[in-house]
Amino acid sequence: MSCIFCQIIQGKSNAYKIYEDELTIAFLDINPISNGHTLIVPKLHETKLENLPEEHSIALFKTVRELVGPIQKAMSTSSANIGINNGREAGQIIPHIHVHIIPRDENEPIWRSGRKNFSKKSKESFEEIALKIRKEIGF
Ligand code: AMP
Ligand code: ZN
Repeated sequence: MSCIFCQIIQGKSNAYKIYEDELTIAFLDINPISNGHTLIVPKLHETKLENLPEEHSIALFKTVRELVGPIQKAMSTSSANIGINNGREAGQIIPHIHVHIIPRDENEPIWRSGRKNFSKKSKESFEEIALKIRKEIGF
């Protein structure tokens, strides 16, 4: 399986993991749109939401719901974009379904401005952000 998210799930590839349970995992997006940009991923490899079995879909959205508050709090904001690119034509690059949580505050560019306006982050910056979020989650 050459899927990068499956490799992260199996511990064969590194990620700034912020949460994990039996059916889901969450880690920082390596090319973030904002500080704290997190991906929530079901451990079962499936490309699109309509094909993800109900048990795994429920687990996925349960994790999204549980993490959005702590992620926002850790990033000192009360807003976030939550989204899925469901299929290639919708901009899906990684063919393993995932939910983006993108914390927002007034000082950062909104979704429509795209990634080009957000500066590249250092390893230390990712580690610091992951630590803040894990602390809020208690993970
Ligand atoms: P999309 O499939 O368009 O919803 O987006 C895939 C997302 O995965 C992009 O935002 C990438 O920056 C992110 N991504 C790709 N590879 C990795 C990785 N190894 N670790 C963390 N995030 C990744
Ligand atoms: Zn996969």
